[in-house]
Order: sequence, then C-alpha cells, then structure tokens
Amino acid sequence: MKTIVVIGAGFCGTAVAVQLLRQAGAEPTRLLLLNRSGLMARGVAYGTRTESHVLNVPAGRMSALPDDPESFLRYAQGRDVRVTGASFVQRRWFGDYLEDLLAKAAHAAAPHVRFRAMVGDVIGISIVDGKGQVELASGECIVADRVVLALGNFAPADPPLADASFFTSARYVRDPWRPDALRNVRPDQAVMLIGTGLTMLDVLLDLRSRGHHAPIYALSRRGLLPQAHRTLEEPPRYRGQLAERLAKKPNARAALAMLRRELRAAASQNIDWRDVIGGLRKATPAIWASWPEAERRRFLRHARPHWEIHRHRCAPQQNAALCAELAEGRLRVLAGRLLSCDDDIDGVTLHWRERGAGTVHQQRVGSVINCTGPASDTRQLREPLLLSLAASGLLRRDALGLGLETSDDYALLDRQGKPSIVLHYVGPFLKAQWWEATAVPELSEHTARLARELIASLSKTGAAPTRQPA
Ligand SMILES: Cc1cc2nc3c(=O)[nH]c(=O)nc-3n(C[C@H](O)[C@H](O)[C@H](O)COP(=O)(O)OP(=O)(O)OC[C@H]3O[C@@H](n4cnc5c(N)ncnc54)[C@H](O)[C@@H]3O)c2cc1C
Repeated sequence: MKTIVVIGAGFCGTAVAVQLLRQAGAEPTRLLLLNRSGLMARGVAYGTRTESHVLNVPAGRMSALPDDPESFLRYAQGRDVRVTGASFVQRRWFGDYLEDLLAKAAHAAAPHVRFRAMVGDVIGISIVDGKGQVELASGECIVADRVVLALGNFAPADPPLADASFFTSARYVRDPWRPDALRNVRPDQAVMLIGTGLTMLDVLLDLRSRGHHAPIYALSRRGLLPQAHRTLEEPPRYRGQLAERLAKKPNARAALAMLRRELRAAASQNIDWRDVIGGLRKATPAIWASWPEAERRRFLRHARPHWEIHRHRCAPQQNAALCAELAEGRLRVLAGRLLSCDDDIDGVTLHWRERGAGTVHQQRVGSVINCTGPASDTRQLREPLLLSLAASGLLRRDALGLGLETSDDYALLDRQGKPSIVLHYVGPFLKAQWWEATAVPELSEHTARLARELIASLSKTGAAPTRQPA
C-alpha cells in the first residue's frame, strides 16, 4: 500500500485530498490529511465566522474543481437561490463547501483507498531509504511515499520597530486571524491598524460587527486602500492584446509604462481598468518567468503595493462599508512610517512619521493590530517545519523571499536544486515561480495538476512498506 501525507487542510490541502480521492488509480493507497488545528477544510481564509467577511472573488469563479467550474456556484445557490456567478458570498460558505466536497469524495472513494483526516502539527520531515519520515509534535512518526506541503499563509511579520519589546504587550495583536484575536480589544478605545489592505478591511469589519464604536486608524507607508471590484453583471469589454505584447518586454519599467498607456487608452473608450488588469491574469506567470531576477526585484521595490491593490480587490459591499467609514470619519487612513509604540496601564502611545512631510505625530490608542497581511518573506519565517527542512537542505527559498523553489511538477527543490521524489509543495509560496498564485482560481489548477502528478509517479514505483501512525 502507498501512503500519501498531505500537511495542511486549508484550501490547497483539502483540494489536493479531494482530487487524490477522485482520481486514485488501481494502486491501494492510504491518504492522510493532517492539520495542526481541529478545523479541517478551512485554513486562514475560510475559517472566519464573521458575516461581513465575504469572498473577494465572485462565486462563479471559486470552484475548487477545474473540471467542474460551477461546482461552488451550485453549492452557494443551494443555500440561497438569489446567488449568481457575480455574487460575492460569505467566506465561511466556501469553508462549508470544501468540507462538503471532502466528505463526498471520501465517501465515494474506491475501496482500495483509505482516507483519514487527523489533527497533527508536523515539525520535521527526513528522507530515509527513499521514504518521507513525517515527524509530529506529539512524537508520532508517519512513513510516507509522497508528502505534500500545503502549509498556506502564515501570521503577519512584526513591523520594524527600534524597540521590539512592545510586541510582547497584551495590547498588541500580532495575528489577527487567531480565533480569539480581537477578544481583548475594548470597543470604547481607539485602535491602530498597521496596514491598509484587505486584512485591514477584514479587521475593521470584524471590529464593527463586535460593536466597536471608537475611532479606528489605519497606517501604512503609502496609505493605499484596496480597490473595489466592479459589479460583474456585464462581461468584460476589453479585447486588447496587452498580455502578448507584455510577454515580449523583459523589463519591468517598460512593461509598466505599456500597462499605464493601455489603461489610459481603455479609459478613453469607457472600458473599465479592472478588465485590463483581469485580462493579464492567465499571462502573468509567463511574463514573470521572462523577467530576469533584477527586473523582478525592481518590480517588487517600486510597483508591488500598487499592483496588489489593483489586482487583489475587495467585494463591492465591503467597499461600500469602507467608503461609509471614511465619509463619516470613523476610519482615518494615515500614510507614514511607524516609529514607536509604548504601552502603559491605560493604552498605547504611538509615534509615526508622515510620508513626504517628515512630521512626527503622536496617537493614543487602546490596541495595535497587525494587519500587514500574510508574512511574505519566506527567509524571515520561523516555522519549525520550514526551518528543519532548510537546515537539512531539503528545500530552498527563492532569492526574493517570495516562496519556495519547486519543479514544474511541484517537487521541492533541494539545496542543490535537485527535485525531490517524495516532497511536494502547493500553495501561495508558488509565487516564487508563478507570481500569480494566491487565489482559488489559480490554486485549484495547481492542486488538480499536483494530484495527477502524484498518482502518475506512484503508479511507476513499487509499493513501499509503511508504518501505521500510533
Ligand atoms: C484572510 C484571507 C482571505 C482570502 N480570501 C480569498 C478569497 O476570497 N478568494 C480567493 O480566491 N482567495 C482568497 N485568499 C487567498 C488564499 O491564500 C487562498 O484562497 C487559499 O485559501 C490558500 O490556501 P492554503 O491551503 O494554501 O493555505 P491556508 O488556508 O493558510 O491553510 C494552510 C493550513 O495548513 C496548516 N498548517 C500549516 N503548517 C502546518 C504544520 N506544520 N502541520 C500541520 N498543519 C499545518 C494550517 O494550520 C492551515 O490550516 C484569502 C487569503 C486570506 C489570508
């Protein structure tokens, strides 16, 4: 019997498991899906219970199954007949949908496929005699023929502060996605959100849904807010050939100048800029791959924040809430750099330097919440599993810290750049190679392809002796 261990039961781990259960070949297979918390099939994004946390991709494009593009839409319509392909529905529905898909796939799996979802925190993997020895924090060890790392998004990194002692304060929330993260935030005290993107918007809406009535401030270097999706009842009108032309520009500056010209031309024809950006989605990996490292670095340094807010947009209903907050002065957006945070018995005194002007401002708040988004530099992550794999030379991070280096069939590259037979990766760290690899439309394609690769590679090798988990 072959054993496949999938580590992480967020979207990617769940989607890989579903695909493996559906596609399994003739080989007797044991499939284990491990997650460090008890919440399966949700991960960071779809574990929220807050109703105002809606998907930032319309329901018609959120299928987990590339060969059944309406699968999520049908599920959502089963809950509310008014849902259309253009609706932005609650994120928790998507978690419920994943759970449902997994349960059905496990139920319908062939009798020679044994599936088990289990709670376990994987802290290390070693390769012994061509097999993965998956080590759990509990002391258990599972021997596997193939291991999929679907570790997902990690909590935001602390912002750079000269005195880091504040990060141990009870008035600082480092991980806004922890289930009880906002429990100690007093609704009658002002709050400072560090970051002004989609995570800030999530936390703002969450605080308001909990009755937070004091002012909320949001600070980031540029003070850029997420752009909104247009309502999608009308199909995109953009028919230009920008993607093809950009693919011939191995230079970030020239590519961005071309994009700006195209956006101006589209505006003059009343074509929505979002359709121009959306039209690049499929071509982005090829464009990214064609740029030398220095150009990718240049893009990240100068254009990344602008790209992020235009490319990763919020749902129209979230934008309406954001605009109302700003218009009523309940939310104030600040552009500048955080200098210091000092807490005392009643609150936090925060200093920040205004962008451009250089003026230093003081602000008094009750809590500071880190909303800078998933930790984005893999070189800085202190995750035990990643550290141990790096120490034993089983993975390598890309030079820009965007993710992990993988082969075209998702095998982890080791320190020498050699693809692993056992270890595979799928998830947002594919950004290193693909750049556009964070949302469900792309990740669902990757997970389906990875499952096919795993099944094909296992069918070529002989059966492996495995040790049952204790
Ligand atoms: C707040 C938020 C909202 C988003 N909203 C959308 C959206 O609306 N639409 C969209 O298309 N995309 C959205 N995204 C993008 C998102 O990255 C993907 O949609 C997708 O959820 C990523 O799934 P994942 O499985 O890679 O990661 P995750 O969902 O983060 O899951 C990884 C899982 O692995 C577990 N894990 C990690 N390490 C270990 C270990 N060592 N041992 C055991 N378990 C481990 C974690 O506990 C977690 O459950 C959102 C992202 C975030 C952060």
